[in-house]
Amino acid sequence: MKTDRRFIKVTGIVQGVGFRPFIYRIALEENLKGWVNNTSEGVLIDVEGTTEHLRTFQKRIQEQAPPFSQIEEVLSEPRPYLGYSAFRIEKSDRNEEAMTLISPDLAICPECEKEINDPHNTRCQYPFTNCTNCGPRFSIIKELPYDREMTTMGAFQMCEKCQAEYEDPLNRRFHAQPNACPKCGPRVWLTDSAGHRLDVQDPIKEVCIKLKEGAVIGFKGLGGFQLLCDATNPEAIKKLRERKKRTHKAFAVMMKDIKTVTNYCLVSDKEKEVLTGIQKPILLLDKKHTDLPEDIAPGQKRLGVMLPYTPLHHLVFQDTLDVLVVTSGNTSRLPMAYKNEEAIKQLAPIVDCFLLHDREIWLPVDDSVSRVILGKERLIRRARGYAPFTMKCEGIQDTLACGSHLKNTFSISMKERIFVGQHIGDLENLETYQYFESCVSHFKHLYQIKPGLIAYDLHPEYLSSMYAEKEEGRKIAIQHHHAHIASCMAEHGLNETVLGIAYDGTGYGTDGKIWGGEFFICNYEDFQRVGQLNDMLMPGGDAAIKEPWRMAVSQLYACSGENLRLPHTLGLTKAQRQGTIQMLKLQLNCPKTSSMGRLFDSVAGLLGLCNTISYEAEGAIALENISDLSDVGPYPYSIERLDSRYVINTQNVIQGILTDLEADTPISKIAGRFHTTVIHFTAQLACKIYDTYKISKVVLSGGVFQNEILLKAVYEVLTREGFEVYMHEKIPCNDGGISLGQLVIANHKNNKGDKTLCV
Ligand code: ZN
Ligand code: ZN
Ligand code: FE
Repeated sequence: MKTDRRFIKVTGIVQGVGFRPFIYRIALEENLKGWVNNTSEGVLIDVEGTTEHLRTFQKRIQEQAPPFSQIEEVLSEPRPYLGYSAFRIEKSDRNEEAMTLISPDLAICPECEKEINDPHNTRCQYPFTNCTNCGPRFSIIKELPYDREMTTMGAFQMCEKCQAEYEDPLNRRFHAQPNACPKCGPRVWLTDSAGHRLDVQDPIKEVCIKLKEGAVIGFKGLGGFQLLCDATNPEAIKKLRERKKRTHKAFAVMMKDIKTVTNYCLVSDKEKEVLTGIQKPILLLDKKHTDLPEDIAPGQKRLGVMLPYTPLHHLVFQDTLDVLVVTSGNTSRLPMAYKNEEAIKQLAPIVDCFLLHDREIWLPVDDSVSRVILGKERLIRRARGYAPFTMKCEGIQDTLACGSHLKNTFSISMKERIFVGQHIGDLENLETYQYFESCVSHFKHLYQIKPGLIAYDLHPEYLSSMYAEKEEGRKIAIQHHHAHIASCMAEHGLNETVLGIAYDGTGYGTDGKIWGGEFFICNYEDFQRVGQLNDMLMPGGDAAIKEPWRMAVSQLYACSGENLRLPHTLGLTKAQRQGTIQMLKLQLNCPKTSSMGRLFDSVAGLLGLCNTISYEAEGAIALENISDLSDVGPYPYSIERLDSRYVINTQNVIQGILTDLEADTPISKIAGRFHTTVIHFTAQLACKIYDTYKISKVVLSGGVFQNEILLKAVYEVLTREGFEVYMHEKIPCNDGGISLGQLVIANHKNNKGDKTLCV
């Protein structure tokens, strides 16, 4: 029989996901000799055997790779036959430059789940059970390469049995860095709210009892602390809301299993796939009419649901609990707590007790939030299970992109590879800013990167921009909405001029005004603002974002001046009314904005849906939730020409809404009609722009496109008009995507003329 030797290189996410043992196993099965090794370039395999076996082996690499690996490329070349006598796994070379792709944290796999439920297994009930296919990764890595001593699990010495599993290439736990068992691994314990240890036999059982009694538990999870309470207990939820000072914003829930989810929510096949997959995000689902307390997600049609994703979560559900509220363990907009002592300090006023453990979290990672729209999963918050996101991009240099102000993420690139970090949060306080700083330096340290190019937002006062100032390297400020569009282009590997539609809350424009309802003809290098929503005044500046009634008054004032009529839905004090009109009249502290978010706010304000918001986009969300779209046409609007661009004039829309309100039209109808109007003028303006520029690829981005009614309808209408429409999937359409856009644009601006292609 003919024998051959092949030298194979596999790149992608192939470390920390059970890749080498997989190779070892199939090499043995195919009777091949040689070795496999992890290197900075990827997994290298040198194999000898019969031609036939080698062919099958290479096929199997592609077809049977471990569930969470992501193969980018398999390169294979012939080499002269050497005559290896066995197949072995070589030790990874510590001195090699670390260019391995870090795997996100993985939800518990079915095999490990079986073990923790098996009374005859040594890992029965053990909350830190994991294997090469599951468990913590990103959140415990201190240094690269990914080896046990380089993670926070280095603090635990494996017992003989664990060590034997770890060393056996045919074992599921071969080189599973966080491998542990009850004898040698981390432990849980229970404390009171002040952190004093409680002497109980079974801390997890005790937590179940306390949850059923209505307690709020501070729970150390995979990537940080969570707050848990029984979601079927209205008193417990009320207590959590009061203590966390979270008045209206919806809580996410964790449900025991997929069967329970289908009892409470409508679940499509695609949604089921996402829920039960290996990443386990919080998925927004349509609620069924059930007896779950309304206070979990007040006024919302949807509920954020996830399934248990660690052994510890599974164990909490073993009793009779079915649904738990699970929310990030933080207070007053601070970053989520992730260290025991710090959590006790921050969360003591909220919890009744803590379930702590001694596996240290090195890098906090929040739960991800996702949604299925038009048959595709679309990320809203990219964190646990999804971060870091990695993509290859030719022609870019080592760059740091500092991201946006709200929903910050940063992106960093090295050797033509972009890493988008996890959701950091709103950079509105020192603590979150420090979290941002420490994440950036963690990444720089991991990969030993010194970015020569720094991209940041054009807004001069953002903390992220100030961070950029301090960095060494060439700095390039990027317009916010250009970054939005570019992030979606990069995600889809688009490399041509497109029509970008950015519907958004706030972004600093090149004219110093606040933008957010923009039509751009753009590529990565530059953009031309060819259309916009009419400028509106924001009486009180940022206060107009927090108090949608201000935008409502502003819009009425724009229509009728001082003699404006206020609809009955807008309950204002005389002082509020007069003060605001005065401000508008004198144009005092009234910045101009073309933001679609503010247009939604003004309508939510007019309808009396929310006078003051308690979380971002509350007005727009309320408006979407009540919308009745049945047989209503658009309100009148006009598209005018101003200088070289189109302006959508919405004055008549506001006028129409006022008339409807005065005629006692149900606000659900008005909200529906308003949506229809936005959909109409979006499509009409896109067509007008097409007439001039003949560009048929449309890219939709910006946080307003989290609105499902809008996204779906704009997609459908534009597709019908013959446009090719691109929407976000892996990268959030909100400000979580900004850093990726900044990174790509900065590179193009930096090396104009160079061809760059992202895939
Ligand atoms: Zn497992
Ligand atoms: Zn052990
Ligand atoms: Fe934005």
